[in-house]
Amino acid sequence: MALTPRPGIMNIAPYVGGESNLPGQNRVIKLASNESPLGPSPRAMEAYKALASELHRYPDGGAVKLREALAHHHALDAARIVCGAGSDELIGLLVRAYAGPGDEVLYSRHGFLMYPIAAQSVGATPVTAPERELTADIDALLARVTPRTRILFLANPNNPTGSCLPAAEVKRLRDRLAPDVLLVLDAAYAEYVTRPDYEAGAALVERHDNVVMLRTFSKIYGLAALRIGWAYCPPAVADVLNRVRGPFNTAMAAQAAAVAALEDRGHTEKARAHNDRWLPWFSKQVRGLGLVPHPSFGNFVLVEFPAATGGAEKALAFLNGRGVIPRRMAGYGLPDCLRFTIGTAEEMELTVAALREFTGHDR
Ligand code: PMP
Repeated sequence: MALTPRPGIMNIAPYVGGESNLPGQNRVIKLASNESPLGPSPRAMEAYKALASELHRYPDGGAVKLREALAHHHALDAARIVCGAGSDELIGLLVRAYAGPGDEVLYSRHGFLMYPIAAQSVGATPVTAPERELTADIDALLARVTPRTRILFLANPNNPTGSCLPAAEVKRLRDRLAPDVLLVLDAAYAEYVTRPDYEAGAALVERHDNVVMLRTFSKIYGLAALRIGWAYCPPAVADVLNRVRGPFNTAMAAQAAAVAALEDRGHTEKARAHNDRWLPWFSKQVRGLGLVPHPSFGNFVLVEFPAATGGAEKALAFLNGRGVIPRRMAGYGLPDCLRFTIGTAEEMELTVAALREFTGHDR
């Protein structure tokens, strides 16, 4: 008999990351994966290098120093923190632990692609709720909750739309949600948010036993290559994650670099200030070219290319020809859009120049 995976596995559309290379181009402007244009803190790089002589040792499976550093930095309880190989791993572990065949995993229409992938991997059914103006709609999400719903993922800010809900809306969602549904607040872009009525979710985690907050070092801390993220959990959920995770799921060098990155507040501040300056600049420039940038609270902008401009596919081919790599959004159900990460000042200027050429505004 032929080897067959479990039902549903072959329905999974594999996650395709942003491209890093273009054939025939020796210099590219990679704006496809929401990475930090400033790179990591020099102190994080030093901490990473210092562990080169320890490669034969297993890491601290409990990530004690990192959890203590996070607890100190964010004024949280270290016992409720669980580290993972990126928040991707934690999304997978939560789904594996709390959902199974026949269960439902709920999220907003244009949510992060790992939610359906994780759900389908365990035989659960991904269910989406419609958005309002590319923003999560709390009432639409609540209307989709059924007795089979096990997990509700809310990315806040959301990737790829960039939208963000105020704390009061997230609280309203939590308060109306059945207590046996786990609300996962994915706050991968929390450090970039400037609106004063925002909360990443730790306060809700501390008050309720069905809320988890996910964070990552891949974005503002510039450590995507090291695969390190963390979950802030109710004690019972932390206990469950510690049972299902691999014993050594995060590398020692990643843990050490993350501790150093947290301590270098100046570097994080610089990355935030860079984003605060160039995100509005980029949005304004593309709007001036007849394109439609969606308001964003992250480190990226979703840009719609109206048919009159030639459309997103044509724009992508044109930009690639100029060495610029934004993210194609067809896989997210946004075929008229491209997503641009905020890059360095020079990268942003070159990207706008290429878009000016594409839209004919250079003539
Ligand atoms: N959640 C969201 C909303 C994201 O955009 C990403 C990165 N694309 C992740 C989680 C995963 O990040 P990582 O696994 O690198 O921590």
